[in-house]
Amino acid sequence: MRRFAYCKVVLATSLVWVMLDMFILLYFSECNKCDDKKERGLPGRDDALSRPRDGPGEGGKPVVIPKENQEKMKEMFKINQFNLMASEMIALNRSLPDVRLEGCKNKLYPDNLPRTSVVIVFHNEAWSTLLRTVHSVIDRSPHTLLEEIVLVDDASERDFLKRPLEQYVRRLEVPVRVVRMEQRSGLIRARLKGASLSTGQVITFLDAHCECTTGWLEPLLARIKQDKTVVCPIIDVISDDTFEYMAGSDMTYGGFNWKLNFRWYPVPQREMDRRKGDRTLPVRTPTMAGGLFSIDRDYFQEIGTYDAGMDIWGGENLEISFRIWQCGGTLEIVTCSHVGHVFRKATPYTFPGGTGQIINKNNRRLAEVWMDEFKNFFYIISPGVTKVDYGDITSRSALRQKLQCKPFSWYLENVYPDSQIPRHYYSLGEIRNVETNQCLDNMARKENEKVGIFNCHGMGGNQVFSYTANKEIRTDDLCLDVSKLNGPVMMLKCHHLKGNQLWEYDPVWVILQKLTLIHVNSNQCLDKASEEDSQVPSVRDCSHTRSQQWLLRNVTLPEVF
Ligand code: UDP
Ligand code: MN
Repeated sequence: MRRFAYCKVVLATSLVWVMLDMFILLYFSECNKCDDKKERGLPGRDDALSRPRDGPGEGGKPVVIPKENQEKMKEMFKINQFNLMASEMIALNRSLPDVRLEGCKNKLYPDNLPRTSVVIVFHNEAWSTLLRTVHSVIDRSPHTLLEEIVLVDDASERDFLKRPLEQYVRRLEVPVRVVRMEQRSGLIRARLKGASLSTGQVITFLDAHCECTTGWLEPLLARIKQDKTVVCPIIDVISDDTFEYMAGSDMTYGGFNWKLNFRWYPVPQREMDRRKGDRTLPVRTPTMAGGLFSIDRDYFQEIGTYDAGMDIWGGENLEISFRIWQCGGTLEIVTCSHVGHVFRKATPYTFPGGTGQIINKNNRRLAEVWMDEFKNFFYIISPGVTKVDYGDITSRSALRQKLQCKPFSWYLENVYPDSQIPRHYYSLGEIRNVETNQCLDNMARKENEKVGIFNCHGMGGNQVFSYTANKEIRTDDLCLDVSKLNGPVMMLKCHHLKGNQLWEYDPVWVILQKLTLIHVNSNQCLDKASEEDSQVPSVRDCSHTRSQQWLLRNVTLPEVF
């Protein structure tokens, strides 16, 4: 009797479960058809894994949204700041082109490579991009090298990322764990949690909107066998508008500007020479973009994981890059490994406490711990940043002590000699015209625009210029450049080749002649303003007038901040 009753209970419970599953499936596939549903990118599109091989986005092709859906597409775009409608049309296991260099395709790797855990953190990610990331890892990694995938939910507010996600990943042929942050913590602490719960010898971090391509993993793991090497793939671009897959370049590497923004710059000749021109060999990169890299678990511990005092997003990529290099490690881009990433123009999620506040705090923490006196470049170009409280950094400074890490000047000299932050400079501050008492001002203009001149405000920011030991006049990563006689002064990317960016300054004021900034190539002098525009300085034949005299003053920062 009892036995029978028990069976009935089991039967009834399984029936309930089957019905619940069916309900979830129906509910969500229905939802995909509703226009007004807020929650998009839902599970249960049972065809999402078996779409025709010439379906939308296959082969990495762009997705075209028909005219009649454009309005809806724009609405949906706002949810994740990428074309969610396009993403949902693409199979979760779409095919991608093999974008590797020919020389990469036949490389052989040892069969005793370490196994990796893949840690993916997310906050309110779309279903389609998150699961496409997961499927691309599973489909394009040898399972012998894949320990597990750990999904860390940073307190998302979407129901489909709760139980439906757990149910979905249970069916996959690689162990996938879903762990939750108790409260919104940001990507840094979420990654720390994922790392601590994972078990593979290597930890590979990916963003939640990536697609791994054929052969992405082996070259990363092969490189990690080298001691203290941290590796990044080439990050290919998945268009935020069309989800087209576009190969990233093996000729760019990571740097940063005075505002501590990560930037891509061309791989310099010295690095091409070191590799004897073989582009399939890993590039030593001064910094990493942040989201995608592999690191040996023990080494991650040894160098102090991440700075858990950093919130939400930002700064952690430069912090770990400086730390790796300054404390004896190596950071590389493995050019035979390609992983796509959806680059967005705006952030879809909130920064509790304010975006600027959080990013500045994180940046201050890294500047204070790692950059020594060079932090001043950051501080004077970003007025106001010194007012942001950066919390307690004692444990991070102690870490630097314990590991006996090298000074930032060593990093600039040996790892990043073409840095935007000059290792040696004559002045860092304003450049003031003696006659008009006005200052050079970049007017927040961009590359390839004219430099301006404006009333001096002494607040740094747009009026910060550095006259460097290489005789360039720089404002952030742009250099003053003149390419025609009597021409205006343009702001171009610094090319380090002297040429039109070479200026001679004589600071000693002895009768006329001096305090001039001579543009060497044209042999003309920097003058207050062009004839057409009083706010644009130009070069003129040197006339020894006061309008061609300039004072280069260092900005002094408040003593205590
Ligand atoms: N992320 C997170 N918590 C946050 C902010 C971001 O878990 O508070 C995740 C996000 O979902 C993504 C990764 O961290 O998977 C990197 O963020 P994002 O893609 O916005 O950075 P970006 O690629 O734009 O630098
Ligand atoms: Mn991202």
